[in-house]
Amino acid sequence: MADALSPKPATLRPATLAVTAGRPDHEPDAPLNAPITMASTYVAGGDLEYGRYANPTWTALEDALGALEGGRCLTFASGLAAVGTVLDLVGADSKVVVPRHAYHGTVMQVADLEARGRLRGELVDITDTDAVVKACADAALVWLESPTNPALEIADIPTITEAAHEAGAYVVVDNTFATPLLQQPLDHGVDLVVHSATKYISGHSDVLLGAVCTRDEELYGVLKGRRDLLGAIPGTFEAWLALRGLRTLHLRVERSQANASELARRLADHPAIAEVRYPGFGGIVAIVLAQGALAADLLTHKTKLWVHATSLGGVESTFERRRRWKTEAPSIPEALVRMSVGIEDVDDLWDDLVRALDDLR
Ligand SMILES: *Cc1c(COP(=O)(O)O)cnc(C)c1O
Repeated sequence: MADALSPKPATLRPATLAVTAGRPDHEPDAPLNAPITMASTYVAGGDLEYGRYANPTWTALEDALGALEGGRCLTFASGLAAVGTVLDLVGADSKVVVPRHAYHGTVMQVADLEARGRLRGELVDITDTDAVVKACADAALVWLESPTNPALEIADIPTITEAAHEAGAYVVVDNTFATPLLQQPLDHGVDLVVHSATKYISGHSDVLLGAVCTRDEELYGVLKGRRDLLGAIPGTFEAWLALRGLRTLHLRVERSQANASELARRLADHPAIAEVRYPGFGGIVAIVLAQGALAADLLTHKTKLWVHATSLGGVESTFERRRRWKTEAPSIPEALVRMSVGIEDVDDLWDDLVRALDDLR
């Protein structure tokens, strides 16, 4: 096996890292891919010891994702397991700044911890940099998500990170939408990057998995300790599938992004649509239907290729009206449909969508 903890040299470019990082050494008869190591325990005397502490298949995935983010990586049972482990870093009664339009599960975790007296949450409009900078003043942790899910707002990561660090707060970026190929927050001095690897990293709508990346060895150690103790570890097969998916991340992101930007351009002229939100990169587009929530619900049931389903970042195009979830932020428009653009032919996606949109009128 490769020296599990040394990622490939940083001089390699992202597409090469996606394909090569986290592989066994090129020895005769070595498998090209990291095998699925099914083991709850290991023969004593080594470094692994027990299945809750370490697994070579996790390590292979962590090496590859860590190499792409430019830090060390720890994987978790799901994106929200990673979110919860990071929120658990702050001391009792600390203030945590959170985007009001962060992933609803993240906002709910903060609200839940606040309700139980564990911390204080302050919701902010992430596009109002001055307000976020002010909120940083007495914070212990500043949570960023950029672009936000599903509002697709962009945060000024460098400015907010500087303000947060002046206040002595940790900065976290949920990088699920951008992926490490379109945004590397650790390069802006961010302390921790969180992923729902369920989405683009795995990329095939068949895995739940989370990850945290950092350059701070102390934080890495604390988070590893929390994972050992709380046990929110990934499944071995899930880690293997996620690594298999990650091998094509660059190709999938490139095609999703090309399709998304083309669809955003075309949709802007459609009379059934009041607003198109597209941040200029990535594979997620949000549209607001001119005729309201009912039209949005109808749309999601009228297509043949576009699948009505939650989640995002898979090879297949999916969409949903986000406010169908009671837990989505009330400031998200009722008629907003979040579209996760897949890697199909863009004209087939367009034809399917336009047929359904024209049908609404
Ligand atoms: C889906 C998602 C999460 C939660 O991840 P799970 O893998 O579903 O637990 C967190 N953040 C963002 C931005 C997401 O889209």
